[in-house]
Amino acid sequence: MRMKQITKAITLALSVAVSSGIAVTANAQVTDKDIMNDATTTNDVVTYGMGLSGQRYSPLSKVNAETVQDLRPVWAFSFGGEKQRGQESQPMVKDGVMYVTGSYSRVYAIDTTTGEELWQYEARLPDGIMPCCDVINRGVALYDDLVIFGTLDAKLVALDAKTGKTRWSKKVENYKAGYAITSAPIVVRGKVITGISGGEFGIVGSVYAYDAKTGAKVWQRPTVEGHMGYKWVDGKKIETGISGGEAGKTWPAELWKSGGAATWLGGTYDADTDSLFFGTGNPAPWNSHMRPGDNLFSSSRVAIDPDDGSIKWHFQTTPHDGWDYDGVNELISFEYDQAGKTVKAAATADRNGFFYVLNRENGDFIRGFPFVDEVNWASGLDKNGRPIYNDENRPGNPSDASDGKQGKQVVARPSFLGGKNWMPMAFSPDTGYFYVPSNEWEMDIWNEPTAYKQGAAYLGAGFTIKSVQDDHIGVLRAIDPKTGEEVWRQNNFAPLWGGVMTTAGGLVWTGNPEGYLMAFDAKSGEKLYEFNTGSGIVGTPITWDQDGEQFISVVSGWGGAVPLWGGEVAKRVKNLNQGGTVWTFKLPKRYEKSNLAKN
Ligand code: CA
Ligand code: CA
Repeated sequence: MRMKQITKAITLALSVAVSSGIAVTANAQVTDKDIMNDATTTNDVVTYGMGLSGQRYSPLSKVNAETVQDLRPVWAFSFGGEKQRGQESQPMVKDGVMYVTGSYSRVYAIDTTTGEELWQYEARLPDGIMPCCDVINRGVALYDDLVIFGTLDAKLVALDAKTGKTRWSKKVENYKAGYAITSAPIVVRGKVITGISGGEFGIVGSVYAYDAKTGAKVWQRPTVEGHMGYKWVDGKKIETGISGGEAGKTWPAELWKSGGAATWLGGTYDADTDSLFFGTGNPAPWNSHMRPGDNLFSSSRVAIDPDDGSIKWHFQTTPHDGWDYDGVNELISFEYDQAGKTVKAAATADRNGFFYVLNRENGDFIRGFPFVDEVNWASGLDKNGRPIYNDENRPGNPSDASDGKQGKQVVARPSFLGGKNWMPMAFSPDTGYFYVPSNEWEMDIWNEPTAYKQGAAYLGAGFTIKSVQDDHIGVLRAIDPKTGEEVWRQNNFAPLWGGVMTTAGGLVWTGNPEGYLMAFDAKSGEKLYEFNTGSGIVGTPITWDQDGEQFISVVSGWGGAVPLWGGEVAKRVKNLNQGGTVWTFKLPKRYEKSNLAKN
């Protein structure tokens, strides 16, 4: 009895912000202007993506090919706790304070000079949460004096940046039906915008907008054809039209009602066209024979008006997906010159193994090409970017089997964990290349009968993921989006699962599950620096400058979907240790006023 009371007291204490007693050195005040200009202001990182377009490019150059060998850690901060698992977060920095999330819906504020904790918030999670792919979180949004993040029980929570105390909390969806939030929200003109997870449970994907200051709901746009969108004006709920115009045109019978298309990775924003770009996951269930048709808007990219949630255009990467090729990967806006004209483009590297360049004003397909060594489910893309299927590599229909229990098994490349998964790529306007964290793997996959049941897995498929090569799965690639050329590659034994950043210092940064934070020459791919952080890196690095010095931070802590879903590959990396630490690096003091700085 006494033990039970103690446990309860600890749980209660953990559910509120814990002040460490150290004076807070700063009180973040993040404005719309700070957010819109984030990519070019080097003294802060106030958006997921280091700029709303998601290029993950920094104009900083003090750390460069000549100086990076002297980079050294200045502090490391542990998330603590008994629970670790995957740490997929991108830190934020404002006015000398870092805001970073840990696994199990935890948030930390840290003094960027000393690495000392200012406050910690730990969400009290119910027992029944259903995260498909580890208890991860990818980061916070900052707005005004608020730190806003999504929880594994599908809430948005706004914390006071100064104290870590809850200012508002909103239930976005019902976690008992399989909904969760793991992505970082973004803020556009005072609205906090989030996606939702749950595509493996037959949820209905949506993009949601809330008033960042008050938490009042502003609009909701479902990403499955047939569901009604809404906006809220003075507390009144107003219909804003059915997604796709009518119910289930590209779906059979009632399947659209549990159609998936989860927006689980969140989105980017392009100020030039005033569009949110969100990706959508697999149609549910995985067994494609149950749902003939294109199954809009699953496995797509959707451009959305940030004012009312209306869909401006969509581009479907895998119509009638049968391989769990979620189309969620980030769509990054960029420009290039062609025949003396500037092309307003956006690019994405899809789970399905193809890299797409789109016209970001209307979603038109410009070009596409495979970015992994072998794609076997499709032989290519047609002139509109639609895949040319290899029908023999679609898992077979269970009703064709004599007992009706299991369809023909096929070997499909890439595996459903993707030519690239969630981990963000980066774009350098200096080289014109995208730096893509990718993987070479395949899967045995077969279909089984299934039926939708709220809160239960809804796949209708079985699978085993296998490596293709003995010596590597991961490949960091430099890709020219104008030609499709792989300019350079760096193979990695374990699958790459962390994000990428590039800088004006001519460097490309990422981490690997073996624990190394690494820097590569952006033009040649030569590895110029590595440091082992003690656990696998599946987070995304950032950089900023403070008092004349350039800082680099990354979160270390192995986990995510690979150990849970990776089959044969999971066995291959089972010796990697878990963790939960933010590492921060800079050059020695003597570089502070050095002429080596290019900016
Ligand atoms: Ca900035
Ligand atoms: Ca999926």
